[in-house]
Amino acid sequence: MQLYHDNDVDLKIFDGKKIAVLGYGAQGRAQALCFHDSGLDVTVGVRKDGASWNKAKEDGLKVAEFADAVKGADVVMMLLPDEVQPKVYKEFVEPNIKKGAALEFAHGFAITFKTIIPPEGVDVIMMAPKAPGDMERLVFLEGFGVPALISIHKDVTGNAKQIALGLAKGLGATRAGVFETSFDNETYTDLFGEQAVLCGGQTELIKRGFETLVEGGYPPEMAYFEVLHETKLIVDLINKGGFELMWHVVSNTAEYGGLTRRERVVNKESKVEMKKILKEIEDGTFKNQWTAEWDADLVNLKKMENDEKKLQLEITGKEIRSLFQRKN
Ligand code: NDP
Ligand code: MG
Repeated sequence: MQLYHDNDVDLKIFDGKKIAVLGYGAQGRAQALCFHDSGLDVTVGVRKDGASWNKAKEDGLKVAEFADAVKGADVVMMLLPDEVQPKVYKEFVEPNIKKGAALEFAHGFAITFKTIIPPEGVDVIMMAPKAPGDMERLVFLEGFGVPALISIHKDVTGNAKQIALGLAKGLGATRAGVFETSFDNETYTDLFGEQAVLCGGQTELIKRGFETLVEGGYPPEMAYFEVLHETKLIVDLINKGGFELMWHVVSNTAEYGGLTRRERVVNKESKVEMKKILKEIEDGTFKNQWTAEWDADLVNLKKMENDEKKLQLEITGKEIRSLFQRKN
């Protein structure tokens, strides 16, 4: 994959141009603040009665309602939850976006699965930072940036790629490195990662490990320390230096035990399921299920969220995490 850095990008592409950041949550806030600090002309578009309106004002940014932010904007950034985007798009973006503007996304979902069909005459691009919003902002304030992916779905103006790269530069991402990919590849790999490994796989692994220790008669507090608290320490090591550094830093006992036992927990059978999960993402099964959930006002999601809060692991975790906070 080709890698782009600061020198490949000129922020002059944004001279006299207006950027509308729709949404002021995890991504919207981090990106809008970084763009503003990078000298770009940013307006945050949010609903007037929401919490984001005041937050963006307090942060010293220009704030407008969706329609007003979109009118006259040269770049319209859809930084709203995936399930909210189609509604906001239909009502406020489609009637107001000008010809020759760029419609931008931080994740390929809407375009890959056609929950939004952009009009003729606009560029359609993506700039997907590979980090949660608060980390993006933190790393930017330290004078660097997090890596990002860009992708061009439609290039009407001939400038689509420079605009996507420009946004990456405004976020500091070109200091780290920016890769180009397609919307579909970003969507499929992102969904797979979060379902099978990061958010899905990881929590189930921790949950089952916790249950095993507690059912074995060990105190939940001990179980929490061993299977959840230390996860971060291990993941930080893997993130910094791969498996090699992690195996080097942990004890030989941990290394030998881990290497001889891991396949009994996650194995060929798990991979068969992983392949099914990937297939369901690629063939639209997951998309259909998830968009049906949107139509049901996320009722199942809310129930699962609630059930998760009742887990003994979560109740124990609250208690233990509070011990890490200074009381005076
Ligand atoms: P958030 O959930 O943080 O977005 C919250 C924002 O959306 C708030 O400004 C909120 O306004 C607004 N909003 C929520 N519901 C509505 C509604 N019904 N009508 C109008 N406005 C609404 O989104 P993320 O930042 O997590 O995600 C944005 C995009 O970035 C998505 O495409 C996501 O896939 C992608 N992405 C996210 C990452 C992350 O770090 N979370 C990482 C990389 C990509 P109000 O205060 O008024 O409710
Ligand atoms: Mg992701």
